[in-house]
Amino acid sequence: MLKTFKGGIHPPYNKELTMSKAVEKAALPKKVIIPMGMHIGAPCEPIVKVGDTVKKGQKIGEAKGFVSVPAHASISGKVTAVEPRPWPGGSLMMSVVIESDGRDEVYEDITPPKPLSELSPEEIKNLIREAGITGMGGAGFPTQVKLSFPPEKNVDTIIVNGAECEPYITADHRLLLEQPEDVVLGLEAIMKATGIKQAFIGIEDNKLDAVEAVKSALKGKAGIEVVVLATKYPQGGEKQLIKAVTGREVPSGGLPMDAGVIVNNAGTCAAVANVLKTGMPLIERITTVTGSGVMEPKNLLIRIGTPLIDLIEQCGGFKGRPGKVLMGGPMMGLAQSVIDVPAIKGTTGLLVLERDDVKLFEPMPCIKCARCVDACPIKLLPTTIAKLAERKMWDEAENYHAMDCIECGCCSYVCPAHIPLTQHIRIAKSNIIALRKKK
Ligand code: SF4
Ligand code: SF4
Repeated sequence: MLKTFKGGIHPPYNKELTMSKAVEKAALPKKVIIPMGMHIGAPCEPIVKVGDTVKKGQKIGEAKGFVSVPAHASISGKVTAVEPRPWPGGSLMMSVVIESDGRDEVYEDITPPKPLSELSPEEIKNLIREAGITGMGGAGFPTQVKLSFPPEKNVDTIIVNGAECEPYITADHRLLLEQPEDVVLGLEAIMKATGIKQAFIGIEDNKLDAVEAVKSALKGKAGIEVVVLATKYPQGGEKQLIKAVTGREVPSGGLPMDAGVIVNNAGTCAAVANVLKTGMPLIERITTVTGSGVMEPKNLLIRIGTPLIDLIEQCGGFKGRPGKVLMGGPMMGLAQSVIDVPAIKGTTGLLVLERDDVKLFEPMPCIKCARCVDACPIKLLPTTIAKLAERKMWDEAENYHAMDCIECGCCSYVCPAHIPLTQHIRIAKSNIIALRKKK
């Protein structure tokens, strides 16, 4: 039987738009906008000024603090602005704007490091930090911080997240299929950096070609196993993945390391491999540009900082009248009100829905059907927490474990009354965090 978790949903996946399309290298952007806070933690500080010339791979933002990573130029050219700019996370973020010189010159200091066999665990972690590597699945947690867990946590397992359960997105699918050796090399580096001897690569059963590709890349390697998972949303959620692969539960309020596990995205492993092979920091990624509102959906290898509108144009432009643009997929993606914001390290995809495909519903009163409870993969009571949020009863919402909500959207998706449960719970979470800070 295929491994999975309790709860969850089966939305239309719509992956056929791009799943068979090989990754194409996107055109060199004329301009990139590099936000200084593409990661969770302290934003980095710009170390270049207007008028400076920079080269590809050059550091342009210095990490501030332990939970932070540096930022790098993804093209060569001239710095034309260092100022707050709109970014996909909403509002403004300090950013460095670079106009391309068209030469795409590599920064002189970029050279491949020693072979993995000669690198110490600390050297590997330092390479990962200096390369600005963060979780590539969307959350953007600095990878070296994840690898620096306290010894008392007894972490003994690494899981590579190749589930890619989000509808429409096929970036990891193509990566696993086209670069399985890189995913494996990055994983081996992470195993060496942490001293962990056991690893699993979890892939949903709607990507069996990727399963086969990874299995053949693993021939002759010890300690790494592919786990085929049932296709179900949100199979790629860390807690759901850990439960499906190991049977372990992450405790309420806890982290994967509390279950003895660290989870890294397949794209993160490939980014680590790229640093080992070339010395080049994280300046590009695979992004799926898709949806009914795009002429020719594609998987593109893009430079970080490329304006989203450039990516849409490289896919033939808009089809019909765009109704909604999301960075990411339909379940967890972030709706964008402007489309000249840049793609960032966590941009797994760009989904454009044609206006007729955007359904708007008026919420109705709850009919107490409990579908939201059955769908919740965390076993929360979404309807109760949402009601408490509507009444601004933040302490009570916290008592109902609102902070454990992973904002997967399953409850809202199944609700026949179209109540925006996830939105209410998200508001509760931000108020609980604000109250905690006050206290
Ligand atoms: S309450 Fe949170 S975790 Fe549960 S289904 Fe809703 S969004 Fe997902
Ligand atoms: S799914 Fe909607 S209608 Fe049903 S119990 Fe939950 S909130 Fe109420």
